[in-house]
Amino acid sequence: MSATSLRFDIVTIFPEFFRGPLDFGMVRQALKKNLVSVAIHNLRDHAGDRHRTVDDRPFGGGEGMVLKPEPLFRAVSSIASQDSSFPACRTILLSAQGRRLTQETVRELADCRRLILICGRYEGVDERVTDHLATDEVSIGDYVLSGGELAACVLVDCIVRMVPGVLHNHRSTLNESFSRPAAATQPGKRIQEPAILDHPQYTRPESFRGLDVPPLLLSGDHRKIKLWRRRKALEKTLRNRPDLLEYGCLSEEDKRLLETEFEG
Ligand code: SAM
Repeated sequence: MSATSLRFDIVTIFPEFFRGPLDFGMVRQALKKNLVSVAIHNLRDHAGDRHRTVDDRPFGGGEGMVLKPEPLFRAVSSIASQDSSFPACRTILLSAQGRRLTQETVRELADCRRLILICGRYEGVDERVTDHLATDEVSIGDYVLSGGELAACVLVDCIVRMVPGVLHNHRSTLNESFSRPAAATQPGKRIQEPAILDHPQYTRPESFRGLDVPPLLLSGDHRKIKLWRRRKALEKTLRNRPDLLEYGCLSEEDKRLLETEFEG
């Protein structure tokens, strides 16, 4: 058994929610191998009354309910004091109003020993939690979910796969969408390579319903395959994610690559 390198503590009003999503694939394996651990905490256990109240109406009027500050402050302080071998690293509030999650943030969070994730519900949480309890307010995208639980699962999933030992080949995380080429991340390198999308992948059969795999991929010419893949990754990024890459910012080498004819 390896020692757990990262512990997640998730605060939620729906603890049962996490039974399914964390029970498959890579996250399940990482939990089984004890590379990471996840503890789920019921916010209602930290309510201060016999009705286990965790929400109330918003001051100033308006729709819906808001998660109260006291149960959340109590929950986080109680969690942080459990298991001193894992000092709390970051307390993350999942929120549509947060900083949008990127692969760069995921890498940064994967270096932590312990992450406390707070799942909001209803109209959200009292802003004093955002300002004085959470170290980070994170959004998983520009849309509104009905609760932070799905967002917490997204965070757990993408962080867990960055933990050393979880993926069979950890180097594969250096060559996937939103990663910068290895050379560009070396210290002292001044030019920041853009983080682009991954290149397209194909597998057997070579021909399916008249749709053929690009012949170059069957050629065995690894130098040409590498160039072709770079070109396809650049094309796809320019087409689907112009926010990541502008043609004008491409290196002369990449511009030439986009004009190259690949035969065979
Ligand atoms: N009134 C809030 C607003 O407009 O920003 C939306 C509250 S939402 C219905 C309830 C909870 O879902 C939030 O407190 C948050 O925890 C979670 N949530 C919703 N969208 C999210 C997103 N894009 N990323 C992360 N969490 C989200």
